[in-house]
Amino acid sequence: MPPMKIKKHNFYAGPSILPQPVYDQAKAAIDDFAGTGVSLLSISHRSKEFTEVMEEARLLVRELLGLDEDFEVLFLQGGASMQFFLIPLNLLRTRAAYLDTGRWAARAIEEASYVGEVSVAASSKDGGYRYIPEDYEIPSDADYFHITTNNTIYGTQMHRIPDSPVPLVADMSSDIFSRVMDFNRFGLIYAGAQKNMGPAGTVMVAVRKSLLGKTGRRLAPMTDYAVHIAKKSMFNTPPVFAVYASMLTLRWVKEQGGVAAMEERNRRKSALLYEELDRNPLFRAFVEPPYRSMMNVTFDLTEPALRERFDRMWQEADIVGLKGHRSVGGYRASLYNALPLESVQVLVDVMRELERTA
Ligand SMILES: *Cc1c(COP(=O)(O)O)cnc(C)c1O
Repeated sequence: MPPMKIKKHNFYAGPSILPQPVYDQAKAAIDDFAGTGVSLLSISHRSKEFTEVMEEARLLVRELLGLDEDFEVLFLQGGASMQFFLIPLNLLRTRAAYLDTGRWAARAIEEASYVGEVSVAASSKDGGYRYIPEDYEIPSDADYFHITTNNTIYGTQMHRIPDSPVPLVADMSSDIFSRVMDFNRFGLIYAGAQKNMGPAGTVMVAVRKSLLGKTGRRLAPMTDYAVHIAKKSMFNTPPVFAVYASMLTLRWVKEQGGVAAMEERNRRKSALLYEELDRNPLFRAFVEPPYRSMMNVTFDLTEPALRERFDRMWQEADIVGLKGHRSVGGYRASLYNALPLESVQVLVDVMRELERTA
């Protein structure tokens, strides 16, 4: 692999860092896509070359997640947010159950309430969403149980996927392809591309065919997963650039050794940062160890008077995107797959330098 051309250490939460080869190849494809002599931005989505890209992207998702034959993989638009509404439209017959672990989970709950009855199995809202509820019951008469595996804003992650008596539906927008799991335990998995899979503009949905067609609801075609499956994600014009760049990222994940290799790197990166947060008296992590995310690390200074100094120091170290979400404050370092360990080390060095000179 050629050396990483680091311009900035990019800790943005999304859109976020992608592998350097993805930038290079996407750039080249804007000039000349797959030797066609036509820009990727101007080629028909019905061309053989792009049809192959869509096919490869779907196959790579299937392969990297180890999905069984019942799954269909789609690349759609409208972000994860559109799926908050499409999931209940397609799967909710009488009642759905949700776990409320953050702002995105709450948005999913709200959107489902436009479609049918929603019961919230548990919520960590009263604790500022700084933990994942653990004692709750999943109603066995629900049509599905919806979870958010990683809570991007708060920096919490589900390290134990519950045993569910009903199909599990998971928003994996901010930790897809970051850690090994038995993905066949799920009935539907979705992820907006712009956190860990590609640029903004597409959302991946992997859904079990056997769950579809059971609501008795008449669906407009754009909202019907069965239509998108039949049309191979080409019912309307797909976001050609976003799907292409996502496919390149998936190829990169595979070349690096797949999801297991990503998990190993992500463990090393997050351990390095959490160890410093726990050791350095000038910092505190927002989240307790059992719920800490490997993807989004949230923290703050213990002495607010040092803020101006710390902010200047990390900016001088070519770090970008460290500001916490406006609803949480403090700092958030997003350590997605493409972020090199070296960038985390630069941040840790700045934190140590602050301690040394404070
Ligand atoms: C970013 C995010 C979303 C929203 O994604 P959009 O593509 O902006 O709709 C939903 N869920 C989670 C967990 C996210 O991190």
